[in-house]
Amino acid sequence: MYIYEEFMANLERRNPAEPEFIQAVAGVIESIIDVVNDNPAYVNAKILERITEPDRVVSFKVEWENDNGDVQVNRGYRVQFNNTLGPYKGGLRFHASVTLGSFKFLGFEQTFKNSLTTLPLGGAKGGSDFSPRGKSNNEILRFCRAFMNQLQKYIGPDTDIPAGDIGVGAREIGYLYGQYKRIKDENSGILTGKGPFWGGSLIRPEATGFGAIYFANEMAKMRNDSLKGKRIAISGFGNVAWGVAMKATQLGAKVVTISGPDGYILDEEGVGTPEKWNYMVQLRISNNDVVAPYANKFGAKFIPRKKPWEVPVDMAFPCAIQNELTLEDAKVLVKNGVKYVLETSNMGCTNDAESYFIQQKIPYAPGKAANAGGVAVSGLEMAQNAMKLSWTAAEVDEKLQEIMRNIHNACVTYGKEGDAYLNYVRGANIAGFKKVADAMLELGY
Ligand code: GLU
Repeated sequence: MYIYEEFMANLERRNPAEPEFIQAVAGVIESIIDVVNDNPAYVNAKILERITEPDRVVSFKVEWENDNGDVQVNRGYRVQFNNTLGPYKGGLRFHASVTLGSFKFLGFEQTFKNSLTTLPLGGAKGGSDFSPRGKSNNEILRFCRAFMNQLQKYIGPDTDIPAGDIGVGAREIGYLYGQYKRIKDENSGILTGKGPFWGGSLIRPEATGFGAIYFANEMAKMRNDSLKGKRIAISGFGNVAWGVAMKATQLGAKVVTISGPDGYILDEEGVGTPEKWNYMVQLRISNNDVVAPYANKFGAKFIPRKKPWEVPVDMAFPCAIQNELTLEDAKVLVKNGVKYVLETSNMGCTNDAESYFIQQKIPYAPGKAANAGGVAVSGLEMAQNAMKLSWTAAEVDEKLQEIMRNIHNACVTYGKEGDAYLNYVRGANIAGFKKVADAMLELGY
């Protein structure tokens, strides 16, 4: 029999100074502990100790040269968390703030998210403390080459297939893939998020954002509601925010905010035209990490150093980074009448913000459900690569919609509470956990 406080105290002892990892595990354990304690097979198999310990953790040195000819040293990581359901799968993040603990939290979350997709994918995450901010295109190219020179030793098309995440978009995947091919001389689809002419899947760039909107649509449908006419706040301005803005607009909603580390944009006209979406892509590849220029270009308002959660909206989609939406933000959103919240970044909401939404009975989707569309289409990209053919955008989109519907159904199956409130956090955690845990029991140790 597991006791929550005892288990978490042990975990903290074994993983000191990794607050994000502890936070992510705490959120999952809270949801699943009763299910585990009700099943002696889980308890006897020490399932919680085993599922919270990464299979393998790699840290490596990345040496490269900047444009001034100065030698730079960064640290690369790959956390191969759990490969029970399939090869390790998960993105690469390039961001100054990352530590080993960040990748452990992300790899842990990825394991359950990938389980929810219904595809045979294990969970992993990696990246580097390299910051693309202010770097030239050539510096990014040189860093990607140096990073792949090391990473290629630890990955393989049937072992571990990385993809993008914060700071790693189509351009970086291209540079990384090019270097892998130069070293190995093979076309094995070792990364996902590739360009459409060299093995990538159509809809992959849009998939995380589209998936989140498909999930929101399922949430609304269940409540005899729809996205039409909804006012939406999103944070971030990268790939995910971009996909959300596009699909939300297509379904008749209006996205009124985007944000960056410098502040947020309030665009009452809506972030709803191809020109604006293209501009978001330009902002990202300019490597300045700011949204302010959008305000001048499109006559919108720029609010410096603030987050978009103070804007009254019907739906909120945090799409930037972990812990970007706090309890204070949650209180403001609820006070202003928010009807749905979809955590679209990984662990975008603090645990107390998440608990507040649930306590207030706001339909709230956790990241591992709402943002699973990205990795799901990565799984579809792997399938296309293995078959040496490619599906049309419509075929991929249809599969993505079906996957998001299935994830929503899984949340409904395991997330119903006595008073008819649907607790998506509990539902997603139990559904994601059960599949991995049952497979671990079947495979022995
Ligand atoms: N980084 C994305 C995620 O958090 C995508 C991972 C992938 O496609 O492998 O799920």
